[in-house]
Amino acid sequence: MNKTLTITLGALNEAIGSECRVAITPESAAKLLKAGVQPAIESGAGVKAGFTDSDYEAAGVKILSRNEILKSSDAVAYISVPESSVIYTQAKGSFTVGLFSSLVNKNIAQQFESAKVTALDITLLPRQLSRAQSMDAMTSQACVAGYKAALLAANEYNAFLPMMSTAAGTIKPAAVLILGAGIAGLQAIGTLKRLGALVTAYDVRPAAKEEILSLGAKFLDLASFGGPDLSAGQGKGGYARELTNEEKLAQQAAVDKAAAQFDIIITTAQVPGRKPPVLLTKAGVEGLKRGSVIVDIAASALGGNVEGSQPEMTIQTDSGVKIIGAPYLASTAPKTASNLLARNIADVLIHFISDGKFVIQDADELAVLAISAANNRPQSDK
Ligand code: NAD
Repeated sequence: MNKTLTITLGALNEAIGSECRVAITPESAAKLLKAGVQPAIESGAGVKAGFTDSDYEAAGVKILSRNEILKSSDAVAYISVPESSVIYTQAKGSFTVGLFSSLVNKNIAQQFESAKVTALDITLLPRQLSRAQSMDAMTSQACVAGYKAALLAANEYNAFLPMMSTAAGTIKPAAVLILGAGIAGLQAIGTLKRLGALVTAYDVRPAAKEEILSLGAKFLDLASFGGPDLSAGQGKGGYARELTNEEKLAQQAAVDKAAAQFDIIITTAQVPGRKPPVLLTKAGVEGLKRGSVIVDIAASALGGNVEGSQPEMTIQTDSGVKIIGAPYLASTAPKTASNLLARNIADVLIHFISDGKFVIQDADELAVLAISAANNRPQSDK
């Protein structure tokens, strides 16, 4: 049975350009209503993800205008970092949740702060905390991105992936290299193995080696290509640490050398709060075979894992290599990605409900998500 509905959560239509996801789905609405939260969306917000306004209405979601959502909601959930004009239209004292990457978007906290909006940044989630697993939107979205990176690479490659014996002769399998074997990388390994490719992977964290091998892929030992000893590549919270300049240069030289034997390269390497590390340089790209395909999931405005990759662009080099800058891949399976993301968002918000309103308790380990200091303002301050 639903609790009395005392709080409202709104989501805008953010499906612009390559973005197709939505922050509330009919499925997550059921969870929200059960917890006493009345969900509302801007008309058309779910269409690109496969959900019509009628699907939402049938699930108990209100359809409101953009302005109504921003001005009347106790909390607003975002897929992308909102424009400051949007932040300043939100009701004073309201909450907001999203993947704000506040360690990189340095001025976002200050904008929420001056708009008197308490912002919860899911990218700050302590991911190894077991009760936070269902809130982990970085994992859910990276899973989708890794899967789609494998399919994109397979599709763009000009040959088969599996080995095949045919009457006309044997077809050689494609050799794939995955650089960065975290959530997205492991998902890409699993998908490419199922497609029959010969998969090799590399990660700077020593723990990743076991995971690579357990999926039936080979581990790339960079030391045999003159790479640095990175037995201490692990940083805080299960993430990679940033390498020293010397280590970076040695790693790049070794990756450039090793990469020449592969047909497809998928790069996923990130270090929280830093620009993505360059793993493959221009010289490494020039050393690849003609027809090779690179998918750089880490491509961003700050740069990616591959020198010369550009977000949302496919570059064909003079040496016949295709470099696809693909940070948007979660959005290419928008129904799955939205359902997962909306569940993560609902769980984060429900966690902070106490006595029919949103409250952040400083002693709570998850309070680290609050990036604006408007934390404990009473919600009646609208
Ligand atoms: P991420 O997106 O920050 O990075 C992707 C991968 O790139 C990581 O595996 C990282 O080690 C690797 N990388 C970074 N710099 C590199 C470099 N110079 N060379 C090669 N590889 C490099 O990470 P992610 O995929 O979100 O997660 C990283 C790790 O966090 C996971 O593998 C896991 O150990 C941990 N994690 C734990 C939980 C949990 O305990 N529930 C949940 C999610 C993630």
